[in-house]
Amino acid sequence: MPSKANYSDHNTVLEDLKKEIRDFVKRRKWDKFHNAKDLSEGMVIEAGELLEHFLWKSARESQGYLRNQKNKDRVAAELSDLLILAFNFADRFHLDITRSLRKKLALLERRYPAKKVFGCARKYRPL
Ligand SMILES: [Mg+2]
Repeated sequence: MPSKANYSDHNTVLEDLKKEIRDFVKRRKWDKFHNAKDLSEGMVIEAGELLEHFLWKSARESQGYLRNQKNKDRVAAELSDLLILAFNFADRFHLDITRSLRKKLALLERRYPAKKVFGCARKYRPL
């Protein structure tokens, strides 16, 4: 069995991550602060911190920014902050991330049929 540091997306079970986060929170007795409102606000704040990396940069400059490993690590850290809160939210309120995500993808598949929106980035409206 590899050590935790060697796990990646390829060999990690979402439920294990949820449990790891749950244990982290429990050991600090932070669960009393983790209601739906505050966890949601936290996710928005972390999304803002992620966005801050790209503020005032063009799309091209943003791509270039991520070619630098230090920048990429910082961006990954902000994304992780956001995901920790998202996984914590899902765990706390018994939301199955995989089921929810697949359900949403199926809805998006129907809403944006590839043959109708191929190469087009417009927001949804009946086609
Ligand atoms: Mg952060």
